[in-house]
Amino acid sequence: MSAFNPQHRTSTAGQITIALYRIGQAIEYLLRHRGQANHLSPAQIQALIFLRYARPEVRTIGGLAQRLGVTYATTSNIADALQAKGLIARRPLPEDQRVITLHLTPQGVTRVGEVEDVLDEIEAAVTELAPTDQAALQRASQAIVRRLQQRGYIQVYEMCWGCQFFRPNAHPETPHLPHHCTFVDAPLAESNTYLECPDFVPTEERR
Ligand code: SF4
Repeated sequence: MSAFNPQHRTSTAGQITIALYRIGQAIEYLLRHRGQANHLSPAQIQALIFLRYARPEVRTIGGLAQRLGVTYATTSNIADALQAKGLIARRPLPEDQRVITLHLTPQGVTRVGEVEDVLDEIEAAVTELAPTDQAALQRASQAIVRRLQQRGYIQVYEMCWGCQFFRPNAHPETPHLPHHCTFVDAPLAESNTYLECPDFVPTEERR
């Protein structure tokens, strides 16, 4: 029976499913509302936040398309609109001039600061829960996200700490690049370990 059918909400799974749907609606509303106040679409807000926190190598039209779950053409239009507003710039990657990367301009960085607290309402609602409820919700929501990721519905970006490929302090001889990623087999600067990466795999999970 469909989760939208009120009769289905006699089951726990049905009630939780429709609650998750409503949370999704609230997030859509918050993004839309914040966007109207800042002359940005919800997708443009998400693109700016992506460019603020994603690993530099994935800040491309392709990386953004994957993150937003939309086509390359749609992403290109989003980037054009943000560039026309002076919030982002396109630049070739120094190592490979054929790869065009997207960068926040100083105005773009300022604008991210004005919109990135858009999920504070959601976090405030979670913070009001008892610690035991928060722990149970954390476990359950992570399990749901993992399943959705495995089925290909979402792409999860996370930072290095907690990733199975991360080797902290593997290079004590080079303080500017002290850590190591075994996925790309390259050393990592401390600041890069706090950026979001699409290749993240939690330590408890195997590929
Ligand atoms: S694969 Fe893991 S360790 Fe490597 S950069 Fe991505 S998050 Fe960091």
